[in-house]
Amino acid sequence: MNETDSPRIRVFLNDPAGRGDRLVESSPPEGTEAGPWAFRVEGKAPGPRAYEPDTREFLYWQLSSALDRGKRLWARRIPGPGVWIPGPVLPAVAVAGEDLNAYYDRKALRFFRDVDAKTEQIVQAGESPDVVTHEQGHAILDAIRPDLWDAPHFEVAAFHEAFGDLAAIFVALAEPALADRALKETRGDPAHSNLVSRLAEELGAAVRDRWGADAALPGALRDAVNTFTYTDPKGLPDTAPAQSLSAEPHSFCRVLTGACWDVLVAIFRATAGPDRSAALVRACEQTAALAVAAAETAPSGADFFGRFARRVVRQTRDPALASALADAFFQRGLLASPEVPPELSPDQDPGVAAPPEGEGPSPALVRAIQTRLGPARDGELLLLGTRSAEPGRTGVLRGRRRRDLFLHGAEYGPADGAAVEISDAFALGFTAAGLLAASRVHRAEDRDANDARAFVRFLARRRRIAQIRSTPLDSQQLARAGHSHAIVLEADGVRRLRRAWIARKETS
Ligand SMILES: [Zn+2]
Repeated sequence: MNETDSPRIRVFLNDPAGRGDRLVESSPPEGTEAGPWAFRVEGKAPGPRAYEPDTREFLYWQLSSALDRGKRLWARRIPGPGVWIPGPVLPAVAVAGEDLNAYYDRKALRFFRDVDAKTEQIVQAGESPDVVTHEQGHAILDAIRPDLWDAPHFEVAAFHEAFGDLAAIFVALAEPALADRALKETRGDPAHSNLVSRLAEELGAAVRDRWGADAALPGALRDAVNTFTYTDPKGLPDTAPAQSLSAEPHSFCRVLTGACWDVLVAIFRATAGPDRSAALVRACEQTAALAVAAAETAPSGADFFGRFARRVVRQTRDPALASALADAFFQRGLLASPEVPPELSPDQDPGVAAPPEGEGPSPALVRAIQTRLGPARDGELLLLGTRSAEPGRTGVLRGRRRRDLFLHGAEYGPADGAAVEISDAFALGFTAAGLLAASRVHRAEDRDANDARAFVRFLARRRRIAQIRSTPLDSQQLARAGHSHAIVLEADGVRRLRRAWIARKETS
């Protein structure tokens, strides 16, 4: 069979309501249930043909095509087996019910459909590549950083949303056609709002038509081109009109998404070459590499945004570019100073050796870690994984010690008397010969405990926490009731706050 005989599908490369977007012909994705970051769209696959939007057949191929573009991007960005929390193949449910929403719940990606209250058009969340690759981004971040799922911090919850939006941007700008159109729309300067920076245009319009002009920006649910600057989320209101910042993760995430877009623009400007679309594609690949490396290693905690920003700067090899990126984060208020010191400080402990490849730490190494973390009752050590040493460079072993923080008071709602997990983090640097030479410790302090308490009070005020349930959590039942978290009685007899799902939005 030659190229012209191959069956072709039609898909949107960007959000269906993205200004000027149109259907393009494409080959149907193949082998999606094999290899890294594999997925399966539930239901029988219709024969690959050029279907009309708003049909079941079109939705199947549109959803599959967007997830496949994500699969290919993440296979490049995160080498290795690419296995999700639910297993090697992530299920995706094209129509999970009636709503203007989509969510990931550690079992599947679920997309909803509804009708725009004003235009009476059908709105399929699964038809928007922005929405689909955002949800896939939640699942990717969960796979590489499962400890962030339950972390009781405003900035960690907001980071999950920022990473979802960045995932949508990274997948979009991997398409030279979209990079080209973003540059045409902005006359060559992507510091201006464009079809890629604007996220979930169609869903945003439907949200405004249903809940009013404060519920979403005009023109998109969110826009990565924004001027929001950092402020402690504990000082922000629980909710606010879309034009201003609140502590709610989908609102607060825009500070970090905006800063990462600034990073993308700075890298684009530093990328030479007459083909500017190709330069934007390359700049986006580099931004994605930095964001993933920082997401993999930044320790969980109250000031997660700042820790992420410092990791991005430290990962940047070119000193002039590192300084430009530090300045971008400083302008956003994410760094206290544009000078970012090295992560690790000299710390020799003669005889303490790195664990051999694939093995756990020796008793001597565990003692060395505990000594540096300081005393804690019942803390459990967990390794984040080792970066194997490149020749002549040190390897870094990272991990955390998890501890329970118990909450007491009616203001915690159903979480009164339950615990949340907070973490002490460590990073140990080893010489090429495998000996401990440098270290860094982030011990969870009062600031982290206060942030965790404030975050749970926020969830309680928003009625997000379900009373104790039998396990395993029924995330679909919890989602219908608007409960993103539940108090779970765990095997060790402690009641802990656990997340059940993470959504495109948590309003309504
Ligand atoms: Zn989300």
